[in-house]
Amino acid sequence: LAELLKPLYELQEIDTQIHKVEKALGSLDDGSQLREESEAAARDLAARRQAQHDLEIEFRDEDLKLKSFETKRDQHRVRLYSGTIGNPKELEHLRNEIDSLTKSKGVIEEKLLELMERVEARKVAADAAQAESRRQDDLLAAHLADFAERSAHMNEQVVELRWQRDEAVKRVDEELLAQYARLLKRTNNLAIVRVTGSGCPGCGVEFTSFIFRRLHQGMEDLTCENCDRMLFYEE
Ligand SMILES: [Zn+2]
Repeated sequence: LAELLKPLYELQEIDTQIHKVEKALGSLDDGSQLREESEAAARDLAARRQAQHDLEIEFRDEDLKLKSFETKRDQHRVRLYSGTIGNPKELEHLRNEIDSLTKSKGVIEEKLLELMERVEARKVAADAAQAESRRQDDLLAAHLADFAERSAHMNEQVVELRWQRDEAVKRVDEELLAQYARLLKRTNNLAIVRVTGSGCPGCGVEFTSFIFRRLHQGMEDLTCENCDRMLFYEE
């Protein structure tokens, strides 16, 4: 009889390992959380660069306006001092124009200074966002490489274990195998346990002296009275 249960117990050991590796495989972090964080960091970076760019365009527009005022004022000055204008009203008008342009230029210069500070602040923020985005990308890449390595290793283990299982099944009595398959579902994938002490390793309940005696007599049709698991005992 001892020859009947031992191959089944060996099959159980393989099944337990398969179950363990598959469970570990299923609980591996595939990096989806890190991917979300990385995408969020990339979106933040894009928004901040856009904000910087928008303000730079505003700065360039104001700067162009300033240059056109300067050009216009220079042209007025050339005319004013050319000596070709004799009409006092026209001269007065030119001087007013130049004053007005100088005032406008001052206003724009103030605005440009303020814009320059704001552009710089936005650039600092965008650069920080870029550093953060790179950090997130590196984290994700490292994690994905690790995940690929781990899952490949575990998948190899499962393939090897399944091959071992195919071999192990051939050595098990058919009727016993059917009983095992039914029990697996009811016993959280542990249908047969190896007894080494005075209780059931499956559920922890102490054996009655009757069961204990029969186990040690080499009886093989014994199950735990509490959890129904098959009991395998080897001297
Ligand atoms: Zn039990």
